[in-house]
Amino acid sequence: MTSNRGAAVVIVGGGVSGLSAAWWLARSGYDVLVLDKGIVGWEASGRNGGGATHYQSPLFHEEQRLWPQMDALLGYPTEYRRERIIINLTPAQQARTRHMATVCRDLGYPSVELDNGQLRTLVPLAGDDALGATHFQFGGHANPQRTVQAYAWALQDHGGRVMQHCPVTGFVTAGGRVTAVETRAGRYGCDALVIAAGPQTGVLLRQLGITLPLAAARAEMIVTEPLPLMQHGGVDGNGLYGRQTLRGNLAYGGGPHEWLDENDGTEIARPSTPLLGSLSRRLAALFPKAAHARVIRSWAGIIENTPDGRPVIDRLGDPDNVVVCTMSSVGFGLSPATGHAIHDLVLDGTCSFANIDKLSLRRFDGLPADWRQRRGWVPPLAVADPVGSAVDRR
Ligand SMILES: Cc1cc2nc3c(=O)[nH]c(=O)nc-3n(C[C@H](O)[C@H](O)[C@H](O)COP(=O)(O)OP(=O)(O)OC[C@H]3O[C@@H](n4cnc5c(N)ncnc54)[C@H](O)[C@@H]3O)c2cc1C
Repeated sequence: MTSNRGAAVVIVGGGVSGLSAAWWLARSGYDVLVLDKGIVGWEASGRNGGGATHYQSPLFHEEQRLWPQMDALLGYPTEYRRERIIINLTPAQQARTRHMATVCRDLGYPSVELDNGQLRTLVPLAGDDALGATHFQFGGHANPQRTVQAYAWALQDHGGRVMQHCPVTGFVTAGGRVTAVETRAGRYGCDALVIAAGPQTGVLLRQLGITLPLAAARAEMIVTEPLPLMQHGGVDGNGLYGRQTLRGNLAYGGGPHEWLDENDGTEIARPSTPLLGSLSRRLAALFPKAAHARVIRSWAGIIENTPDGRPVIDRLGDPDNVVVCTMSSVGFGLSPATGHAIHDLVLDGTCSFANIDKLSLRRFDGLPADWRQRRGWVPPLAVADPVGSAVDRR
């Protein structure tokens, strides 16, 4: 230990990634300290759609293995519910959903196609004109706020510590390692460091001389008044992701998103009327029998996008005791698996349960400096969903 105020592992960022990693490490007996500039889960981790069906990720199998056990493992409820139904309103949507079903079936995850009659039995809010749906018998969704609480309480049950309102402002390095982090409250020593600061991860890494390409985008969610509970809370489609809450509200989001300057990630995100209007219209088309429901709440959150839409979860070579994590829009659902991967990278330098080479930072070596401009991922233009169909945020 380099400072008696520190911990064996200091984690910068108390979103789901940092909290899950801290929980995994604390339950393995390690002394962990999470530092957050604000309140845990106040950023994207507490504001998202709650989807957990990331079949394109190398962490998918672990995501699917862990979620059904998370309430028992954490000792607190996440409101996880298994399965997902995707409704198709157009032939193009139907083709995409069928493609997803084929890919998932090849991975060993079953689904069945529903005709309109079967759909309306399972999803009474669906309309008469839908082109059927696919019922995925895996995946699912959870309550983001509950999940953040569950991680934070569970890691503290194992002796881990959380300090809120404690922005990390710099790093102390010696002998090719980070030995401490600087905060307004002073210096905290560490043997190992995890940087899981969402859209701010790149800004922090720059202080270590490391480039992590990230583009921040503002996304929004709307919540309707409560409606009768459906058998399946995890129903989406029409470019929307979300769920019906246990109280009956429909909580939904989905592009278009709005590109931000990377430094805007420090601002509190607020909803805008045009994006909310687009969400409301598409939600009414997805659930015509809920078109009368009033929108009672909305919020915005900031999504961290890498150039290829995949997360970065990697242990750096120099300094060699730093693990970096930023999730590129799929971080909520993957969080149980992400925490496991970070735990392994901190302790052993390699992930024990999946090949995560695709998530290395090295893959962006040689990326041109103006990559955001080349993609058109720049403010102030409001453009289509930044990760498009390449990444499934469910
Ligand atoms: C509207 C919306 C809908 C989404 N829907 C889904 C979905 O359905 N499924 C899904 O899987 N994902 C979804 N996502 C994406 C998902 O929410 C994120 O990928 C995930 O929450 C990222 O978690 P994180 O812990 O890595 O980062 P964050 O949640 O961004 O947390 C980072 C933390 O780091 C802290 N921090 C930053 N800088 C510092 C510093 N200098 N010092 C100390 N602390 C610092 C911040 O305060 C923050 O608490 C959605 C996102 C949004 C915005």
